[in-house]
Amino acid sequence: MPVLVMKFGGTSVANIDRIHRAAKRVALEVAKGYDVIVVVSAMSGKTNELVGWVNETSPLYDAREYDAVVASGENVTAGLMALRLQEMDIPARSWQGWQVPVKTTSAHGSARIEDIPPDNINRKFAEGMRVAVVAGFQGISPEGRVTTLGRGGSDTTAVAFAAAFNAERCDIYTDVDGVYTTDPRICDKARKLDRIAFEEMLELASLGAKVLQTRSVELAMRYKVRLRVLSSFDEYSETAGTLVCDEEEIMESNVVAGVAFNRDEAKMTLTAVADRPGIAAAIFGPLSEAGVNVDMIVQNISEDGRTDMTFSLPVDQIKRAEKAVMQATGRGDYTFSDLVTDDAVAKVSVVGIGMRSHTGVAARMFKALSAERINIKVITTSEIKISVLIDRKYMELAVQALHDEFGLEKA
Ligand code: ASP
Ligand code: MG
Repeated sequence: MPVLVMKFGGTSVANIDRIHRAAKRVALEVAKGYDVIVVVSAMSGKTNELVGWVNETSPLYDAREYDAVVASGENVTAGLMALRLQEMDIPARSWQGWQVPVKTTSAHGSARIEDIPPDNINRKFAEGMRVAVVAGFQGISPEGRVTTLGRGGSDTTAVAFAAAFNAERCDIYTDVDGVYTTDPRICDKARKLDRIAFEEMLELASLGAKVLQTRSVELAMRYKVRLRVLSSFDEYSETAGTLVCDEEEIMESNVVAGVAFNRDEAKMTLTAVADRPGIAAAIFGPLSEAGVNVDMIVQNISEDGRTDMTFSLPVDQIKRAEKAVMQATGRGDYTFSDLVTDDAVAKVSVVGIGMRSHTGVAARMFKALSAERINIKVITTSEIKISVLIDRKYMELAVQALHDEFGLEKA
């Protein structure tokens, strides 16, 4: 029988009543003839509570025990979902990560899935089980300890199961009804997309669209797992939500699919560093070792053998970055004259696979921003994305202007 993966996020299993509602969705798919793998998150808020308990008990916790505690939220919802389905006369069984087994690396707290041997679950399907309810977010390390996959990781569990079982589709049930052209809270013209390409979704997820864990989209793209993002609160329909799929499945699309933004950016400039081979390595090596996530980088034209180096980073990493710079210069790795920090910038990006075949997108973007008198501080581009750094106070305005410029309110 064809396999369908259905993942329910924390708000969709937040209490017994919601678990009941989710189980009814599962029953619909079982009735269509699917063998279903249900992947559940912990009840919303539960994982935060568990993380809090760990920190309260042991601030410098042993990561193995963090995982032992934090993985438990999903165990509860998996068992409850299996019970609810049994109450509805659907043969169902719960599976914790180690029971499947979901084999992961031993990087506790951010483990990666290496393999999901499907035999155990397939044997049960062959014996008549119709639903395997899998605890998301968790696995087992080569040492035999429980691991977790990083926050939001049950999306990745779901996609990995869809790949391992060759599922027809992976439905991600959440509290929003799909993927939007931009955040509707910022732009009231934001429109739900019927389809979006893997690559576009990957950019949007890594730019901060919270609807899917970035890693899950990477995995879906690699294994060509069709993903559908939909709300568990709306009435069910066959065409609900947004399909994340291969670009070949998208007949016609706008040049730009969406506008993404990140409010919490900072910009740092090291002025008058020597313009010599190895200078970028000398600056960015120590920053990366200190765990600073440098994003955009600009090196100015040099004058008298000196140049300015500007980069962006998350605003909450400024202190860490300053320390890394001071340590590196203290060691004599390089010199600079000033360290200028701007902690009030935001990044706004336009994303679309259509950019590969259409020219002039950047020019349109810059013109739309200039019409609003918004100054651009840093620009970066990739094949399907253009990002600019601007003053944070203009972020909303920029998003709205770009949404209008690229006509995103209509399909
Ligand atoms: N419960 C985990 C979290 O809150 C995993 C997930 O829900 O995806 O991060
Ligand atoms: Mg999530």
